[in-house]
Amino acid sequence: MALDERTKKQMEAYKKRTQMMLGVVSKIAKARTLDELRSGVTAFIEFSDANPKLKSQLCDHLVEIIIEASKPYISPLPSQNKNIVFVPPDAAPVVMIPNYVPIVDSEDMMYDGSSRLLAKISEFSDPMEDAATEEEMNAVLDSAQTKFKVIDIVAPSKPLMILSFDNTHAIHNCECGVSDPSVRQSVILVYHPRDVSGCDRVFIFAHEIGHALHFALTGNIDVVPDRFDAFNEALGINFQTIRQKQEAFADVAAFAMLNNSGLKKHLPHQFSDTMLGLYDRYIGYVTGNHMKP
Ligand SMILES: [Zn+2]
Repeated sequence: MALDERTKKQMEAYKKRTQMMLGVVSKIAKARTLDELRSGVTAFIEFSDANPKLKSQLCDHLVEIIIEASKPYISPLPSQNKNIVFVPPDAAPVVMIPNYVPIVDSEDMMYDGSSRLLAKISEFSDPMEDAATEEEMNAVLDSAQTKFKVIDIVAPSKPLMILSFDNTHAIHNCECGVSDPSVRQSVILVYHPRDVSGCDRVFIFAHEIGHALHFALTGNIDVVPDRFDAFNEALGINFQTIRQKQEAFADVAAFAMLNNSGLKKHLPHQFSDTMLGLYDRYIGYVTGNHMKP
């Protein structure tokens, strides 16, 4: 084969591979549903496996595309509250990627992250019950901020991100996480609940804000907020595990946030005014708004 012809063939093969690579990453960027994201990430992993030498280039493209695609949602839009960003269901799949795939130079970390992301996507199914609406979530956040300045505590610099998904999760109705521990950005993932017979969707959301508050107060979800043990002891409750305490704190925070005239109907059961007053006072104390309970 003449040299020219060989070069031409190599060039063509290179062009074809580059096009395929761009096709793979743009499939991810264009994903508007978790199914589309699943198929994009699967193609990414398959292409990486088949072309190990191109892995680094592929990851660079992925980083660029993801940053570009999620930009409008990561930096708050002018009309939005500067400390809260609502990400609608058609953008949530792409915006969730950085929570699993680290945006770093290490291809191996990105590859592992992609596998974790795929595993996460496989936990979802079609929507079952109705999810909390943006209006309902705003009402909870307004109450939390007005009564206890919760948003100032949870999102002192990076905004609180609320990602809504058009799917139901196998176990969780809603989840709370921290996308990057160094900046402590809290992320709430809101799903369509599986079953709302136990408690309603607004309560479920308020409970997750309670988890975010816990993390913001202690920097470590395994550390109980100040005087929480004493608060429970005074009520005659003795939790055995840190997991029980985490759930109980999120519940107490939710009770206090929902304890206002417009939101009381979302409390999971009837409380006496005395009990509601105690929850208010404890959350008021721990958020620095009230004196010691
Ligand atoms: Zn919980």
